Amino acid sequence: MILGMLSSAFHAVLEVLFPKCCPACGGKLVADEQIICADCLASIPRTEHAILEQNGIDLLFQGLIQKEKCTVRYERGASFAYYNKERGMHFRTMIERGKFGNHPDPQIFYFLGSLAAQEYIDSDIFDEVDCLVPVPLHPRRLRQRGFNQAEYICKGLSDVLHIPIDTEHLVRTRNNPHQSRSEFAQRKDNVKDLFAIRYPEEWKNKHILLVDDVITSGSTMMACMKKTTPIRGCRISVFSLGWAHK
Ligand SMILES: [Zn+2]
Repeated sequence: MILGMLSSAFHAVLEVLFPKCCPACGGKLVADEQIICADCLASIPRTEHAILEQNGIDLLFQGLIQKEKCTVRYERGASFAYYNKERGMHFRTMIERGKFGNHPDPQIFYFLGSLAAQEYIDSDIFDEVDCLVPVPLHPRRLRQRGFNQAEYICKGLSDVLHIPIDTEHLVRTRNNPHQSRSEFAQRKDNVKDLFAIRYPEEWKNKHILLVDDVITSGSTMMACMKKTTPIRGCRISVFSLGWAHK
C-alpha cells in the first residue's frame, strides 16, 4: 500500500517535471487526452471517404491500373485524411513527428490507426478483408527507425476490427533512398522490383488490404499490387492514414 502510494506520487512528480505533450501542436496533454490533444484530433482534415460512393483513392488506382494495363483485382480504397499543408498542418506534423524528429513514436500510428477504424467501422471499406498487410520498410530503414509505421497502423486497425495482420508474405527486396526526390515516372521505375511475395499460393482467393501511412503518387502501392496479378483470385484493397492530394 505504501509502495503503491509512493509509486503514484512518483508518477505525479514525473508528470509535473516532464508533462506529456501533443506531437502536433506541442501543447500539454490534459488528463483524458491520449497521445494527441483534443483540438488537434478535431482538426484532422478527414476525407470522408467512408461515405462516398467513389472516392479519390479509387479514381487514382483505377486510373493507374488502366494506364498500366495490368490485371490487378482492385476492390476499393480509402485514405483517412488529407495530408498537405493547405488542409491541415497539424495532421502532417503528427505523421512527420511519428516517423522522423528526435524520438520517432510508433504509438502515434497505432493511435491514428485505431481512430480511423473506429470512425470507419460502419462503412464497407474493411468488409470481407482477410488480412491487413503493411507496406514493408527496407530492413536498413527499419533498423534506423526501429519500427515500421504501417505495421503500427495495422495494429491499431486490427485491435478495433479484429482482422489479422500478415507481415510474412509481402517483402521488400531493395532500398530506395531517393524516392522522395523523384518525379512520378522515375518513381514508377524506382519501385518496379522493390517488392516480392513469398509463398504466393497462400494468397490464392484472399482479399488483402494493403496499408501505408501516406499515399502520394500511388506508385508504391501499385508496385505491391502488381506482384499479386499472377495469384489466382487474389483481390486487393488499399488504406492509408494520409492522402497527399491538393
Ligand atoms: Zn495538439
